[in-house]
Amino acid sequence: MGLKIASFLTTSREVPGKWSLAVFLKGCNFKCRHCYNWRLVTGYEGAEVSEEEVINEVKNLPFLECVVISGGEPTVSPLKNLVDFVCSIKEVRPDIKIRIDTNGSNPEVLKELKSVVDGFAVDIKAPFEKPELYSYAVGTEVDVEKVKESVSLADGMPLTIYRTPKFPWLKEEDISLIKRFTRRLRSPWFLNEFFEVPDCPFNVP
Ligand code: SF4
Repeated sequence: MGLKIASFLTTSREVPGKWSLAVFLKGCNFKCRHCYNWRLVTGYEGAEVSEEEVINEVKNLPFLECVVISGGEPTVSPLKNLVDFVCSIKEVRPDIKIRIDTNGSNPEVLKELKSVVDGFAVDIKAPFEKPELYSYAVGTEVDVEKVKESVSLADGMPLTIYRTPKFPWLKEEDISLIKRFTRRLRSPWFLNEFFEVPDCPFNVP
């Protein structure tokens, strides 16, 4: 059985200036407040598409420059399935760049994927100095050292970026701590706008 792919779409917003195919996988080990893809996390999103459909799309759209594998959290999928999927895409389009979007909780998976992809988008949801705040943001106990390890593994790869939504519970000092940490990295960090997702079931008090 292959990856559980909920949907895919063509977009120029994921990798600025480049047309990408964003592929959304089901499942995630976090329960972030205001998760914009909570339906993928809870399994509410029923429909599935096959890997072949995605690969055909890549083959049929010559203007595509990147494939962004997102979710949900891609690294909770079986590693072999992920590697096989990435290799199948590269087989039909060796020139295409592949980025994996991750919450950073599984550095051991990133280590294995690093040789077959072109970068990662790693979310930094709170300052690493405040593990309790981090766990609050992601709705579960999190080992921030693992996220830090993922950040290091991804750093400097051609498509790697780091992202922090400007959550309302992050104070200026929290943003400053994240800024100070990311200043030492080679890949860019972006502080993104926060969008409320009122119907997300993870918005518990
Ligand atoms: S990491 Fe958080 S925001 Fe991303 S899919 Fe999982 S629960 Fe949603």
